[in-house]
Amino acid sequence: MKSADHLKEYHRKIKSGEIERPKAKTPMEKALANPKSMRAAVNAMCWDCSGFSRPEVKRCEMEKCPLHNFRPWQSKDNAEDVGKDISALSHT
Ligand code: SF4
Repeated sequence: MKSADHLKEYHRKIKSGEIERPKAKTPMEKALANPKSMRAAVNAMCWDCSGFSRPEVKRCEMEKCPLHNFRPWQSKDNAEDVGKDISALSHT
């Protein structure tokens, strides 16, 4: 069976109630499940700090927070600037 067929079968089973749709993990659950992931830890910290709201993390204006440049769910423009900052640091 091809992967597309597996996917169709999966969706059919979910629609029919044969299997339950898996619940998405929160950023905190992801961090607890993967305690060695720095990315998961930062995501969980920002998510918690912002009242469990991804849009609030995105809009965070606390530029003095050490995690600000590394917070998740930023706009792509901002994320590209962070990449420049990091590469500039590695060349100094
Ligand atoms: S970057 Fe913003 S959302 Fe993330 S921990 Fe700092 S203050 Fe909170």
